[in-house]
Amino acid sequence: MTRNPFIYSEPLYRPPSEAYSLIIQATYGCSHNKCSFCTMYKTKKYVVKPIDEIKNDIDAFRIHLSYVKRIFIADGDAFSMPTDMLIEMLGYIKKKFPECERISIYASPKSVLEKTDEELNLIKSAGLELVYLGIESGDSKTLKSIRKEIDSDGMIEVCKRLKNAKFTLSVTLIAGINGQNSWREHAVNSGKLISQIEPDYLGILTLIISPGCELYNKLRVGEFIEATSKDILNEIKVIIENIDVKKPLIFRANHASNYLNLSGTFPEDKRFLLDEINLALKTADGFEKKYRRL
Ligand code: SF4
Repeated sequence: MTRNPFIYSEPLYRPPSEAYSLIIQATYGCSHNKCSFCTMYKTKKYVVKPIDEIKNDIDAFRIHLSYVKRIFIADGDAFSMPTDMLIEMLGYIKKKFPECERISIYASPKSVLEKTDEELNLIKSAGLELVYLGIESGDSKTLKSIRKEIDSDGMIEVCKRLKNAKFTLSVTLIAGINGQNSWREHAVNSGKLISQIEPDYLGILTLIISPGCELYNKLRVGEFIEATSKDILNEIKVIIENIDVKKPLIFRANHASNYLNLSGTFPEDKRFLLDEINLALKTADGFEKKYRRL
């Protein structure tokens, strides 16, 4: 009997921009699973599904779905699956869904570093178009403290290698990741890192601390002090001030976690985005009372 591919191993996450995409769950969990703020895959052991099982899912999706425009490969860093398997899966997707216009995936920095440039080129040629990468911060001290296990130079190398292989690159930063400490270093260095890598898309999320992660334990004993909404606005402002790109960069800070919805395209909307934040900051005291998290 064919397995129902719509029954996913929960929890299942995808980027906001993949809301209407078909999700093919090729791996479970995250091979890194150590970031101090992240609880997404704490209940899952990292597993790469057997290729036959993935192909069965693809076959079953094809039976149920007459038209698929976009496909997202889950879970957390499915890019870490063995290159030959990834290429075989992409070939099978292309064969079964010839109408699909974009295949995308989550990657961790380690999963990129483990692949050679030649492998990256082969994966791109096999049909993978867009890679989502959680940079979180451009500041090496911050990256160390959140257990990302890479410094800012390593992160730049990861991004440049993905760009050299001609992937569309979508990255995220986290506002409030240092709480009320060292936020300026995080903000300045994050803006500078974005300027160096020139990704195609940048999203800024705001830190939400959930039970089950290391940061939650620090919060409970007073070792981590959360940033206020006003701090977050100031932090995003400094990040934006330090972004200097020549090529168009589509920017979004409109995730449910964000206090202020922002969207635009760098470089032309930089002034507009800063004006929006300055306006919000003028009324930030009332804003603070209204939106402060308990
Ligand atoms: S790499 Fe991503 S999914 Fe994995 S632990 Fe870190 S934030 Fe979570």
